[in-house]
Amino acid sequence: MLDAASNRPALPPEIARRRTFAIISHPDAGKTTLTEKFLLFGGAIQMAGQVRAKGEARRTRSDFMQMEKDRGISVSASAMSFDYKQFRFNLVDTPGHSDFSEDTYRTLTAVDAAIMVIDGAKGVESQTRKLFEVCRLRDLPILTFCNKMDRESRDTFEIIDEIQENLAIDVTPASWPIGMGRDFIGCYDILRDRLELMDRADRNRVAASIEINGLSDPKLKEHVPPALLDKLIEDLEMARELLPPLDPKAMLEGHLTPIWFGSAINSFGVKELMDGIATYGPVPQIQSAEPRDILPEEPKVSGFVFKVQANMDPKHRDRVAFVRLASGHFERGMKLLHVRSKKTMTVTNPVMFLAADRELAEEAWAGDIIGIPNHGQLRIGDTLTEGEELRATGIPSFAPELLQTCRPGDPMKAKHLEKALMQFAEEGAAKVFKPSIGSGFIVGVVGQLQFEVLASRIELEYGLPVRFEPSQFTSARWVSGDKLAVEKFVNANKQHIAHDNDGDIVYLTRLQWDIDRVVRDYPDLKLSATKEMM
Ligand code: GDP
Repeated sequence: MLDAASNRPALPPEIARRRTFAIISHPDAGKTTLTEKFLLFGGAIQMAGQVRAKGEARRTRSDFMQMEKDRGISVSASAMSFDYKQFRFNLVDTPGHSDFSEDTYRTLTAVDAAIMVIDGAKGVESQTRKLFEVCRLRDLPILTFCNKMDRESRDTFEIIDEIQENLAIDVTPASWPIGMGRDFIGCYDILRDRLELMDRADRNRVAASIEINGLSDPKLKEHVPPALLDKLIEDLEMARELLPPLDPKAMLEGHLTPIWFGSAINSFGVKELMDGIATYGPVPQIQSAEPRDILPEEPKVSGFVFKVQANMDPKHRDRVAFVRLASGHFERGMKLLHVRSKKTMTVTNPVMFLAADRELAEEAWAGDIIGIPNHGQLRIGDTLTEGEELRATGIPSFAPELLQTCRPGDPMKAKHLEKALMQFAEEGAAKVFKPSIGSGFIVGVVGQLQFEVLASRIELEYGLPVRFEPSQFTSARWVSGDKLAVEKFVNANKQHIAHDNDGDIVYLTRLQWDIDRVVRDYPDLKLSATKEMM
């Protein structure tokens, strides 16, 4: 994280204007709608409604498959860039379905902040909490948007309380809702002393934005009915007493979240949130790496792969590696060192995702996300630099929670299956383990739905029907430690040993008891449920 007291030079203006963030929310809270309005106000789309198809495609599984077939849509939405005022926003999409949480976790390693969207009637829901915990692991700054204020929602203090209690983070109101449900008329913008009124007739605009000179300004009376005004004044006084002010440092450290209230579908509160991201949302941050951290202002380019998407076009086996630039000014045609293989690659056709279109990226700066088409050289966790052997750290790979054995419908096609599975493993869509004894592959995922998606993709993209069958194992742990101890352990536990797609050793088991026993009997070994992708 940025140390305010550090003696770092000022960021180049092109980097300082970048804001790279993700939206975290529980399904249905309004993430898609909010994204759409961001793009609308960012001038990236003319009419709201263009990203809707994607949000609705997520609703059902069969539609989801359709979406998977239509890779173009999901890909162009993986990272979207648009300008807002003098800022460049990079919005990185987090997959909505809880079954894809691992992908989501990794996405959060590529952003500098998260927007947490909650539904004003439902408060903090399970998926929000899970995602929030991941943000907390990285001390990511969080800006909160409380959506659907046009509907019957909870009392404002109650919502704030719930966030504070449930997520153990301080909350400071950036705006305050006036009225509720049918009587909701808008918000008081606390940060700028303005009255923002909602237009219920035109969902794509805000009715009025009125400058107010403190709470005793007579202009308030002209726009707010007396009962609502009394409550607003009372609430704001109480909020001032009970809640902390917006301290940018506490926000950057992830201890404090400002909250805006609004209604995404009515485009209400969205601009204020965008202004909040512009003002407070952090500039590109320092990237942790070995043997040294990477500063965004460094003139040399570096970046790391946080996501790989394969078979975007089934006719060509191309893949796109999504790279978060950690430093420097990238230009098309640059030669970059692929640190893992120590090979140099010329990046001739990088793409950037400007709203709905995929475009050739002539240049990009630290903070940006570029897509690099490749034939499989680039994997999740890989670092690219202008020559220095740096490795970005902190990109996790999780132990899968569900394991199944995968077999080809045609036993002669085992080699084909291996190829397909390896590809999905590299994409991060599943863990693939090759047992040291016996045939077949053990595939591990975080959510059940992933097995079905995998089976359907293997059939679709490789023309290979496959079967998933229950496996005798239920847990996987990566094994590391002293070389001799590992060897001894592997030899004594052959039936439980497998290798993942990077060749790393994995211990498979059915019982927590086994894991406890190994930990006890092999003090020189480390069994881990996550593996840093390198
Ligand atoms: P996602 O699952 O988080 O992407 O949620 P969506 O953006 O698809 O929204 C879920 C549902 O809530 C949709 O039917 C939206 O039309 C609706 N919705 C979104 N924002 C608002 C809002 O501000 N007010 C109301 N009443 N409904 C909203």
